[in-house]
Amino acid sequence: MDRFDVLIAGAGPAGSFAAERLARGGVRVALFDGRPPGEPKACGGGVTSKALKAWPHLLEAVGRTIDELDMYSPSGKHLHLKLDEPFAVYSRIAFDTFLRERAREAGAQVFAEKISGRGFKRVEGKMAPVLPEGSLDPVATTTPRGLPARGPRSAPGSDTEDGWIIRMQSGAEFFTDWLVGADGANSAIAKKLAGPLPPAEMEIAFGYRAPLPVDGEAATVVAFLPNWVGYAWAFPRIDHISFGIATTQDAFDHDSLDALMWDFMVAYYEVAQVGNLRGRMRLWSKQQRETQISNLRYKELKKTAERYAARIPGLAPRTWDTRRACGERWALLGDAAGFADPVTGEGIYYALRSAELFADAYLANKPLNYEQQWRADFGKELQRASQMRRKFYGNFWGAPFTDRMIEFARGHRGIRKVLGRLVAGDQGYTDLKRKLARSALKPL
Ligand SMILES: Cc1cc2nc3c(=O)[nH]c(=O)nc-3n(C[C@H](O)[C@H](O)[C@H](O)COP(=O)(O)OP(=O)(O)OC[C@H]3O[C@@H](n4cnc5c(N)ncnc54)[C@H](O)[C@@H]3O)c2cc1C
Repeated sequence: MDRFDVLIAGAGPAGSFAAERLARGGVRVALFDGRPPGEPKACGGGVTSKALKAWPHLLEAVGRTIDELDMYSPSGKHLHLKLDEPFAVYSRIAFDTFLRERAREAGAQVFAEKISGRGFKRVEGKMAPVLPEGSLDPVATTTPRGLPARGPRSAPGSDTEDGWIIRMQSGAEFFTDWLVGADGANSAIAKKLAGPLPPAEMEIAFGYRAPLPVDGEAATVVAFLPNWVGYAWAFPRIDHISFGIATTQDAFDHDSLDALMWDFMVAYYEVAQVGNLRGRMRLWSKQQRETQISNLRYKELKKTAERYAARIPGLAPRTWDTRRACGERWALLGDAAGFADPVTGEGIYYALRSAELFADAYLANKPLNYEQQWRADFGKELQRASQMRRKFYGNFWGAPFTDRMIEFARGHRGIRKVLGRLVAGDQGYTDLKRKLARSALKPL
């Protein structure tokens, strides 16, 4: 049975980033993911400028940088936003491969295998496995790459030899001192170690991967939905467009939302077809939908668009106080821990940041400090976002807040700036209304 200091389930952004950082620090890391090759994780692939500033190497992954954004309000009002700080859009195959290869180069052992749903067992005391010849030496004080081992290791052969036996779907078994669940929103490890989340604390996002418009020029669009919590997006990537809708799982009604998705997609191509990138999409009208159904573009699109759907955690305000992301010899990262923005569904920044915080706490020999560190670093802000969610998608001065926000931004540079910072990831929700109100009071 091979043995590792840290075994990570899931090579999404959280798992790969943690594996890279730990391996660079001399830790013996195994990284497991059973996703079939070529199958992307369902995701818009948008990475905020806040993330790009924190980890500039992300710009080396193949993607598009976006410095202009078209926003639509629930009543169809349009705002063209020039962003001071561009964000990036990646295909998740490109992004995940980039991060996984960096982990491998740093010295992590990467396995294309899935951990079995119930395949992890805590071992305490003297139950450490007998290692067959040729497997990693548990008493080694250096890593396979010759670096001194760092982080909290058990004293091998002693009573303190605790850890986990992990079983793969293939039946293979491994021993690890620490188990890290970075296995996404449906994490089996999180369900067992932190408890399952109720459906009301999950968002759902679905959409289509569809071809780029013929001339390859493609606008980036975010449109808030009429009478629904959430928004639709069009994120152009290198070779296709990711269209999607993110909304709450408990109120999810597939047929109505799918109809909105198609409205949005057809309206998008209609503007692109006439070559007017800045053109205004006609959205959400019944008449518009009826003309679209008979539209040739709609029929073509039905044949080519590839559907996807997945869940995103959206923790309720009080859950942020009670849910743990780490304990004795285990930790949860990214979506597995519930770390996504409950207003936007943005999770890549938090996946990377949680990975960084855990790896640094582990390398400092204080892995349990991770709990207080994620709370201090971004936990409070995400909790406030979840308190804000109802207000953000609710009413403000007699109309949806998002409608008011876009209406005011159209006529006011200060408000456009605040909105730009929100998209960049630099503007939190806590003081969003105050900032918008303050900007509105400043002279134009
Ligand atoms: C449709 C949609 C659109 C989104 N758009 C955006 C966006 O534009 N920007 C943004 O910031 N966020 C977005 N998100 C959220 C974002 O995708 C997640 O927050 C982010 O991927 C979390 O990263 P992660 O590494 O924690 O988990 P994941 O990216 O989900 O990675 C988990 C990995 O674990 C693997 N895995 C699962 N089970 C096992 C197992 N038993 N054994 C081994 N491996 C396993 C999976 O194959 C997967 O590769 C979107 C989400 C959805 C669903």
